[in-house]
Amino acid sequence: MFNRILIANRGEIALRIIRAARELGCRTVCVFSEADRDGPWLEQADQTICIGPGPSTESYLRIDRIISAAETSHADAIHPGYGFLAENAEFAGVCRDCNIEFIGPSPEAMALLGDKISCKRMAREAGTPIFPGSEDAIEDPDEAIEVARGIGFPVIVKASAGGGGRGMRIARTDEELVEGIRAASQEAAAAFGNGAVYVEKFLEQARHVEVQCLGDTHGNAVHLYNRDCTSQRRHQKLIEEGPAPGVDPKIRDEVCESAAALIRNAGYAGAATVEFLMDRDQQFYMLEVNTRVQVEHPVTEAITGVDIVKETICVAAGAPLSISQEDVEIRGHAIECRVNAEDPDRGFMPQPGLVESFQAPGGFGVRVDTHVRPGYRIPPNYDSMIGKLIVHGRDRADAIARMRSAIDEFRVGPIRTTLPLHHRLLGARPFVDHDFDIHWVERFLESPQAAPAS
Ligand code: ADP
Repeated sequence: MFNRILIANRGEIALRIIRAARELGCRTVCVFSEADRDGPWLEQADQTICIGPGPSTESYLRIDRIISAAETSHADAIHPGYGFLAENAEFAGVCRDCNIEFIGPSPEAMALLGDKISCKRMAREAGTPIFPGSEDAIEDPDEAIEVARGIGFPVIVKASAGGGGRGMRIARTDEELVEGIRAASQEAAAAFGNGAVYVEKFLEQARHVEVQCLGDTHGNAVHLYNRDCTSQRRHQKLIEEGPAPGVDPKIRDEVCESAAALIRNAGYAGAATVEFLMDRDQQFYMLEVNTRVQVEHPVTEAITGVDIVKETICVAAGAPLSISQEDVEIRGHAIECRVNAEDPDRGFMPQPGLVESFQAPGGFGVRVDTHVRPGYRIPPNYDSMIGKLIVHGRDRADAIARMRSAIDEFRVGPIRTTLPLHHRLLGARPFVDHDFDIHWVERFLESPQAAPAS
């Protein structure tokens, strides 16, 4: 096991990793920016090191400063958490060159799955369901038109190196397709230094369903079943739950096993999530693979009892996975609401500043992952998520009732949060009946009466 783990992250996920490391008997070093000087999670670390000013480009994204912090503190491993450098293959490579274990996949596996075209190729070989479309990068527009006519419009042009929704264009006609290829390729070349694009079928109405996987360095890979993250706004997930409701168990198992096969074939060690869109006929199509621990991992921890963050640390230290596929069983239903410091009544305006009151709910089946406490000042520099509320119930209805009760109990002020919105969403018909698609929250926000309360 590692002696000292450096945590290259902040906030709730830094705290989550500190807890896991401590249980495993590892010391922790937390790096922080000047804007996070008073971050409550830092008190829990054995050592803290300031790596620069507030803007993340001058601190949490500075590979050189993080590596020097690791070297001066004699850390033998780095956990990247999510966001920042977590999916940066260069960072994983620099760690390896400096003899520091990167707690995550090898740079090779990360690059293979992070590139959408090579990931799709691997998925095809592993039997993971993918969107029909071009097999490789599109070289000329006529080829794209031929592909699009074959699968039928609408199609979507996507950049192989894309991320964060950039480098994507929807096309409904030949003309839009030609223009979309030009625009997506240009955008991707500017943003990612790689202009390769491909074309695939565009699904108008779909749910987001993803499969949590774990792999180790001994050739093992398992899946921990699925989560539904259909409740999103502007492609940002708001509510996640598991298992994904209303999916036929046979289809679910096939898709989950194919996701684990993909991870296994990629020689992947650590936590990975294979994301899919699912249509009304329960056809699955892979979107991408996230090569890190995800914000919504507690949903899966609740229903399977597997500590995902501890597994990532143990696997990086060379241990085999502590579980085999037969050990993984689903118990009950879990839901997570992201608590964002944003005002839903005013265009989701960020709410930095002083948190005067903060009283988190508790009780049976309630978990709160947060770094916030009364008196904490939310810096304006980072993501607005200030915590996650996770509940576990006997079944979905039980979990929904528990979540709404926990939200009633949650007191945060004077800053506004997304909690009241969550309460409304959880009571809306489309959610209750899981008769929804990835645009349902946006429709609900435009006209709540169109989605009556149950
Ligand atoms: P990124 O890496 O930029 O997040 P993704 O491949 O995950 O890109 O896609 C982002 C979002 O775009 C998805 O969550 C989905 O809403 C939409 N999308 C992507 N591909 C398709 C598709 N083939 N059909 C419909 N929507 C899609």
